[in-house]
Amino acid sequence: MKIAVLSRNPKLYSTRRLVEAARARGHEVDVIDHLRCFMDITSENPTIHYKDREIRRGDYDAVIPRIGASVTFYGNAVVRQFEMMGAYCVNESVAIARARDKLRSLQLLSRKGVGIPVTAFAYSPDDIKSLIREVGGAPLVIKLLEGTQGVGVVLAETAKAAESVIQAFMSLKNSILIQEYIKEAGGSDLRCFVVGGKVIAAMKRQAADGDFRSNLHRGGRAELVKITAAERATAVKAAQVIGLNVCGVDILRSDRGPLVIEVNSSPGLNGIEQATGKDVAGMIIEFIERNARPDRTRTRGKG
Ligand code: ADP
Ligand code: MG
Repeated sequence: MKIAVLSRNPKLYSTRRLVEAARARGHEVDVIDHLRCFMDITSENPTIHYKDREIRRGDYDAVIPRIGASVTFYGNAVVRQFEMMGAYCVNESVAIARARDKLRSLQLLSRKGVGIPVTAFAYSPDDIKSLIREVGGAPLVIKLLEGTQGVGVVLAETAKAAESVIQAFMSLKNSILIQEYIKEAGGSDLRCFVVGGKVIAAMKRQAADGDFRSNLHRGGRAELVKITAAERATAVKAAQVIGLNVCGVDILRSDRGPLVIEVNSSPGLNGIEQATGKDVAGMIIEFIERNARPDRTRTRGKG
């Protein structure tokens, strides 16, 4: 097969591992920087211009999108263009867009009965007090809708602090959501790595001392963990609801069972491969081998 990895940096651990795993299985791989692609969408024959060449229908059998949060809009447009050209994208553009918007994902998850922390959302600063009441008062967590790697996630210990932080974010015209603080998670969460509807690896991440955010980018530590059947089922359901074939489902262990906080469409491979010793990149390539067919994108034609 000919595989394209959409990534801004071929040196990143995850990108390197995907390239390595694909080559080890006899595939041809190119790393394509999505920000250097431009798209011809006027003709009936959609193409992508990349550096000094043209990518046409049939040039790649499969695409692995690794789209950074800061370039979701453009990166996802490139994924969509590949879909229009009939390439099999392991995660489809519509699902990536769903996952990137925390509010949209939580709305979809709650509609399908997946456990999530009590979450509230409002537009106007007048609603702040009722917003805080809605999630059961302080302490509570405030999140930027499109934040990632723990940046833009704040724990407000008191209602007064919560009010000020919410006001500040709102005055900067940032969209935020307010969430019940799951204290019993003790600064840890589960990262369940789902490939093709199965949890293929899981780790527990523990926040650094004095922090409540377990992101590895914020100094969290990862360790191998055995997850329960309920946690496994929750992760699989969340991946299915968002529509991602490859994703990292983050779960808090609460007194009322597993609660999903987010579904990541480009989960890092470094932490999970190290914590579990598993060849996660190889499993992603194997999934592609089993599933890549031209014109397979489910949402094709529906935007
Ligand atoms: P990001 O997209 O920035 O990773 P998350 O929503 O995943 O944002 O939050 C980052 C971390 O903060 C989580 O991994 C978890 O450890 C902690 N966290 C997030 N929401 C809550 C919550 N409602 N209660 C307790 N801890 C939380
Ligand atoms: Mg997270």
